[in-house]
Amino acid sequence: MSDQVQAKEVLTPKQMDPDEARKLAKACVCSDCWGELTVLFDWRSRMSTVSCETRGCPQHGYVSRKYVERAEAKSSGELVEARTALQANGVLPRSGKSESQLLKEMGF
Ligand SMILES: [Zn+2]
Repeated sequence: MSDQVQAKEVLTPKQMDPDEARKLAKACVCSDCWGELTVLFDWRSRMSTVSCETRGCPQHGYVSRKYVERAEAKSSGELVEARTALQANGVLPRSGKSESQLLKEMGF
């Protein structure tokens, strides 16, 4: 997934004001696994960092939820196009199923 993310869309993790961190965690998800973000507060520096909730995730940064929605809509559209093209060329048998049924079967 992260290969599709363009560098300019990714925000790099850094220490920030706790309010700013809460806003970021609400508006963004992890750029690597698209998982939810959690805010960590450092009592010593009085600053917060935003961290991915997925264990073992490298978490290189954050992307906005809107970005993820756009990317998902794009890839599901491409999947239907690819399948339709393969059926038209006789590579895949025609199933007689609608696009929405096919998307459901593929997990969308
Ligand atoms: Zn992650």
